[in-house]
Amino acid sequence: MTSSLPHQPRITFDGVVGQVDFTQVPRFAGPATFASLAQPHETGDLDVAVVGVPFDAGVSYRAGARFGPQHIRIASRLLRPYNPEADAWPFLGQQVADVGDLGVNPFDIQTAITTIENGARGVLERAGKMLVLGGDHTIALPVLRALHAQHGPISVLHFDAHLDTWDTYFNSPYLHGTPFRRASEEGLLDLEGCMHVGTRGGLYGPGDMDQDRALGFVPVRCEEIEYIGVRGTVERMHARLGDRPVYVSVDIDVLDPAFAPGTGTPESGGLTSRELLMMLRATSGLNVVGADIVEVSPSYDHAEITGIAAAHVGYELLSAWAPKLDPLRAPGSTRGV
Ligand code: MN
Ligand code: MN
Repeated sequence: MTSSLPHQPRITFDGVVGQVDFTQVPRFAGPATFASLAQPHETGDLDVAVVGVPFDAGVSYRAGARFGPQHIRIASRLLRPYNPEADAWPFLGQQVADVGDLGVNPFDIQTAITTIENGARGVLERAGKMLVLGGDHTIALPVLRALHAQHGPISVLHFDAHLDTWDTYFNSPYLHGTPFRRASEEGLLDLEGCMHVGTRGGLYGPGDMDQDRALGFVPVRCEEIEYIGVRGTVERMHARLGDRPVYVSVDIDVLDPAFAPGTGTPESGGLTSRELLMMLRATSGLNVVGADIVEVSPSYDHAEITGIAAAHVGYELLSAWAPKLDPLRAPGSTRGV
């Protein structure tokens, strides 16, 4: 293992290389990696790779999600080592590194999809799990292909205002409104185990929901969440997902535009950040094999609202994956190292 650079002293614990030590380097300095985490050449084997996919050629309305990964990374520098709600050390309980961005063709969607699938397979050879920073939602399809090759049929836990199970748009089958229909058609999904959370807004007709159900999804719509709350939603999640291999896909537009203005296809009446973060925290008991955060479009953001929300989505996902540390040995405890 390489030691940290002299001007970037890092927190370490039990051989795990964590964030830059913000007691010695201000948070606004240092590398623009996710949460100022190490790059893979600075660490040993990875439990989790954070990988950017700056691709937005699949959007149907506002563009700009290609700048999502760097925006989320910059907004993630306030994340701290210990998450008290989850009682988790997301960056020290497991080895996480930011492996950078995939070099994705910005003009040709098919080529981009192939590059992303191959890139995801390559990352999974190096790391047990992958947290993908998008990019528009098209990227979920090639990531699911890579995960299916490892785990078989995948249950998708899909946070989104939209279904993303449309068929085509302008006769194009591959775009950010279709990844889960294509994934279902390709046999990548567990048809008994997929669900949407936070769905809302208009459709073209009631038949859209019937088609969606046939593709393997059940929805918990925002209207319903208002009545059953976070607790009731989490119960639905656990009942539907059980111990199946789960891919958590977070379209940031699941949040109300008040909490995430910087996105491509906003819909009014969405979740609060607090609701979403609590639901993600509750995935710690699930068999999650990977996740994405997509549709962050910085040019529509204000005061980093969307970037900060997305950074905290990543924080809760990584916290949910981190094995618990012995409290008597954990950093910062009075009897710790
Ligand atoms: Mn959406
Ligand atoms: Mn989406």
